[in-house]
Amino acid sequence: MGKILDGKGLSDKILNKLADSILENNYSPTLAVILVGNNPASEVYVSVKEKACNKIGIKSVVYKFDENTEESVILNQIRELNENKDIDGILVQLPLPKHIDKFKVIETISPQKDVDGFTLYNFGRVALGLKPHCYPCTPKGILTLLDEYKIQIEGKNVVVVGRSDIVGKPLANIFLKRNATVTICHSKTKNLAEITNRADILVAAIGCPKFITAEMVKDGAILIDVGISRVDGKLSGDIDFDEVFDKVAYITPVPKGIGPMTIASLMENTLELYKSHNH
Ligand code: NDP
Repeated sequence: MGKILDGKGLSDKILNKLADSILENNYSPTLAVILVGNNPASEVYVSVKEKACNKIGIKSVVYKFDENTEESVILNQIRELNENKDIDGILVQLPLPKHIDKFKVIETISPQKDVDGFTLYNFGRVALGLKPHCYPCTPKGILTLLDEYKIQIEGKNVVVVGRSDIVGKPLANIFLKRNATVTICHSKTKNLAEITNRADILVAAIGCPKFITAEMVKDGAILIDVGISRVDGKLSGDIDFDEVFDKVAYITPVPKGIGPMTIASLMENTLELYKSHNH
C-alpha cells in the first residue's frame, strides 16, 4: 500500500502532537462553532469537530440556532464572540439557510478569529501569496500531506477540478505560491480529460462520486480526492479509486484521506489563533 497518502495516519500524528503541546504548556484554546438549522451532514461535521477538540484539549462551544433564525441574530452572536476574550476561533458551519446571506455572516467574523480562513481579509491574503491569520483547512491539509511525503510541487503541472471558495480557489492560489503551474477546471470546462491528463498532481473537489476515471489520469500522477459523497450508505470520493490505482504514483483514499487532514488543520488553526491572542 505504498501508494496511499495516509491522511488518517498523519492527522492522528498531528493531533497527538497538538494534545501534548496543549497539556505541557497549560494552554486553554476555545473554538466557537455556529450551527444553524438541522442539515444532517452539517450536524455530523460539527460533531466530528467537537470530538477532535475534546480529544486534544481544545474547549468547543457549539451555538445552535433554529432553521428560521433571523440573520441579525446570527450576526449579533458573532459580534459578541468577536469581543469575547475567551474565544480564540469562530467557525460558522456551512451551508446556511437560504434567507441568510453567507457573505455577510462570514464578513462579520473578525479576521483574527477566522479559523476557517474564509473572510475577505484572509482569502485575499492567500490570493496575494501572503500569510493569512489562518489558511482554509482543506487546502492547508492537502499541502501538509504532500509535504509529509516530500512530494515536489515547484514546476509541477497541478490541475484542480472544482473552483469553490473553500477548496478549489484558495488551493489553486497556494499551489501557485509554491511555484506550480496551475489549471483550475469547473463544470463549464471543455475537454476536461485532456487537461486532467496533463496533471502531475490532480485534485478532485467536485462532489460527484467516481467522476475521475482511469482514462482521465496520466501514468504516475499524484491524485488528491477531496470529494465526499454517500452512495448506498458508503462514503465515496470523486475519483474511481479502484480503476485508477494501478496507474498512479500516489493517491488519497476516501475515507481516511483529506477529511481527517481537514480536521487536523482546523485544530492547528485554533491553537495558532490562541497563541496569537493575549491570554
Ligand atoms: P462546491 O459544490 O462548492 O463546488 C463544486 C465544484 O465542482 C464547482 O466549482 C463545480 O463547477 C465543479 N463541478 C461540478 N460538476 C463538475 C463537472 N461535471 N466537471 C467539472 N467540474 C464540476 O463543492 P465544495 O468545494 O464545497 O466540495 C466539493 C466536494 O468536496 C464535496 O463532495 C464536498 O463534500 C467535499 N468536501 C470535502 C472536504 C473534506 O474535508 N474532505 C471539505 C470540503 C468539501 P461550477 O463552479 O462550474 O459549478
